[in-house]
Amino acid sequence: MVEKVNRLKHRLSVFFFGRQKQHLFLPSVALYVFLVIICFLPVQAFAVSLISDDETETFLHKIIRPIFNAAGITFNPQKVFILNDNSLNAFVSDGNYLFIHTGTLINADNVNELNGIIAHETGHIAGGHIVRQKLQINRMQSLAVASLIAAGAAAAASGNGDAAMAVLLGSQSSLLNSLTAYQMQEERSADESAVKYLKKIDQSPRGLKNFMKKINQLNRLSGYKETPYFRTHPMNSERAAFFNQALQQSSGKTTSPYDEEFKMIKAKLSAFLLPIEQAKQKYPSSDHSVAGRYAQSILAYREHNLPEALQTLDGLIAKQPNNPYFYELKGQFLLESGKLKTALTAYEKARRLRSDSPDILLGWAQTALEAPHDKTTLKEIITVLNQVQLKRPNLTAWLLLSRAYQENKQPAEMYYAAAQYNAGIKNFETARRQIKAAEEENPSANLKLKLNDLKILINHLNSESF
Ligand SMILES: [Zn+2]
Repeated sequence: MVEKVNRLKHRLSVFFFGRQKQHLFLPSVALYVFLVIICFLPVQAFAVSLISDDETETFLHKIIRPIFNAAGITFNPQKVFILNDNSLNAFVSDGNYLFIHTGTLINADNVNELNGIIAHETGHIAGGHIVRQKLQINRMQSLAVASLIAAGAAAAASGNGDAAMAVLLGSQSSLLNSLTAYQMQEERSADESAVKYLKKIDQSPRGLKNFMKKINQLNRLSGYKETPYFRTHPMNSERAAFFNQALQQSSGKTTSPYDEEFKMIKAKLSAFLLPIEQAKQKYPSSDHSVAGRYAQSILAYREHNLPEALQTLDGLIAKQPNNPYFYELKGQFLLESGKLKTALTAYEKARRLRSDSPDILLGWAQTALEAPHDKTTLKEIITVLNQVQLKRPNLTAWLLLSRAYQENKQPAEMYYAAAQYNAGIKNFETARRQIKAAEEENPSANLKLKLNDLKILINHLNSESF
């Protein structure tokens, strides 16, 4: 977790990179590695901690899009998630949602390695492995091995999903072995597809091989938890031979035009997410690179040294005056430290440089609402927050909207926004009361429809939770 000096914290729940850390509940979405659990246990809800960061997401989209194109898959940015987990992992869920762990981003040395991992996962998507594996497991379920697998699933439910696979891999049951064999076959197929896609985008398979090796090495290091990816992706001799052969036949590049950008992403994530001492070793004060300075600024902030954090950041801004994310970070530091006027200036600059980022818009709106403002600005805040909701539905934005509507004397809208927020945090009873209150405030026809939709959603969510 990120250490914070956030005076708004009590009101605005958890902030992360200046925005809310989202919890995505996936009661019916069977994550690829969680398939076994989903099939054999009653409904399981998983709370997954996701990261929302425009800089990281924009970078990832640039990396993923060409790989999806090479695979002939339509790229949908809404289906890519960054999971706040420092283990080395990436996986595809039911519905072809692609999840990338922060640990993968922090530990990949370069874009070539990241390309390799993403190409492998894309291979699973293109191969339809998620759906097929589900069918295979269903078939096995009918063969009455459910209880055996459920035991593994129960173990997995407590921790990493891949523990289930570990149980499967370790089991002596021939049926389970057949599933394992089936999975290994899919791994091979994903590797083969990955090499094809990498060739199409003129990238060497070296990164994929290196990253797999890295996972093996980390596993061997004492004191390091077994990485989940290793369970389903062991670097066995057959796999190594395949990579070596692919390497010999490849003339693809090991460098990428996005390598410098990736350094910035790694610095940001490391500085925010790693233990401070570890991050300091990675980015010591002797490191004068832009990425190094970026990390040092965040680390100074985490150590409550705002002047140093700002000084370092201003040095970076002098070098790259058109980088919106430097202003965004500055805005975050200042907002969380209660320096609203200067925070607003920073967010305004960020917004001018990048007007369509929901994160920057949210930061601006939050700051503008906290700072003294006139009626015109209040209306703009409401407009901007509604834009954010369209781009990326967000609980913090609902909370801010309810405050803005209250100030703007729009009680029906205020109750509606508050109900949205409470539905999001599963305060269903409160949400229902607020919907009722909104209905009593003479809502517009349009708002009435929205209130009805929300009621239906709440009933649906309520029946799913237990
Ligand atoms: Zn795989």
